[in-house]
Amino acid sequence: MRSALSQLEVVRPRSLAHALRTLHEAGGERPVPLAGGTDLFVYLNAGTQRGTRFLDLWSLRELRGIRMGRSHATLGALTTFREIREHPGMRRRFPALVAAAAEVGAAQIQNRATIGGNIANASPAGDSLPVLLAHDAVVVARSVRGEREVAFERLYRGYRDLALEPDELITAVRLPFAPSRAFAFFRKVGTRRAQSISKVVFSGVLRTGRGGTADFVRLAWGSVAPVTLRSGAAERAIEGRVPAAVVEAARAALERDISPIDDIRSDRVYRIAVAGNVLAQFLRAAARR
Ligand SMILES: Cc1cc2nc3c(=O)[nH]c(=O)nc-3n(C[C@H](O)[C@H](O)[C@H](O)COP(=O)(O)OP(=O)(O)OC[C@H]3O[C@@H](n4cnc5c(N)ncnc54)[C@H](O)[C@@H]3O)c2cc1C
Repeated sequence: MRSALSQLEVVRPRSLAHALRTLHEAGGERPVPLAGGTDLFVYLNAGTQRGTRFLDLWSLRELRGIRMGRSHATLGALTTFREIREHPGMRRRFPALVAAAAEVGAAQIQNRATIGGNIANASPAGDSLPVLLAHDAVVVARSVRGEREVAFERLYRGYRDLALEPDELITAVRLPFAPSRAFAFFRKVGTRRAQSISKVVFSGVLRTGRGGTADFVRLAWGSVAPVTLRSGAAERAIEGRVPAAVVEAARAALERDISPIDDIRSDRVYRIAVAGNVLAQFLRAAARR
């Protein structure tokens, strides 16, 4: 049933420390973190959101900002997709994440939707997630006990099951720069070019070295399994070989890596065919560079 507004309570913490204490000490109902609200409001409207207490993170300056370091970028959890699109350092260093940001909803959504919310919402169709995985991202989580880092690769234990404690907040995501000369790629396939949920979403990072053979390969997928995942068999089919020469072998290996389902957006057979086409497109594009 849709939640009545009068029954909702919103806690507005004064600082990150206050937010963490509120989460930790919550006797009774623990408040649900609220960032841009672009997922939560949909669930509230649909009546599928459990809980009536919310912890509004929006004014926490500690969770904002993009910092470019010498070897990595750190994005505060409240960084919006618009900020990612417009940041010169991100455009230079992380073109695949910028491309993904440009395809999250439309401008209104990109103004509010945050990277932390995309990660914590944990949808297998979340568009930034394959890019984070392909770039070996690290999620920074914080609670009253302190800060810890979780490799993005180990963040999702199963469908919408995050390796975070109930009183932890995501405060940032750290993105190592891709190896120099590496090619980074993003491709989302949906029902139409804008405002659609992914049927298949992919990000790849590939570098070729001596003789044009691949010496660094990351292939990461969304909407083809219960969690965002890397396709290890397909990566092994490409490593040490000339990418454009192993397209068919990589495609065949990819079928062993992914397990798409039939659902309202698409079906298994279509997703397998499209994932193979996207992989072929990536390998050919990498070869042309
Ligand atoms: C019209 C529309 C179109 C959309 N299109 C796309 C799309 O194309 N691609 C896509 O990937 N998504 C899309 N979305 C989904 C949504 O915009 C994204 O998932 C967005 O990144 C969520 O961020 P948010 O800040 O709004 O999260 P919220 O809705 O505030 O929160 C989402 C979840 O994350 C938790 N959370 C938020 N921040 C934190 C934190 N710092 N620490 C711990 N937990 C936290 C919340 O408790 C909640 O469970 C769309 C949504 C709408 C309404």
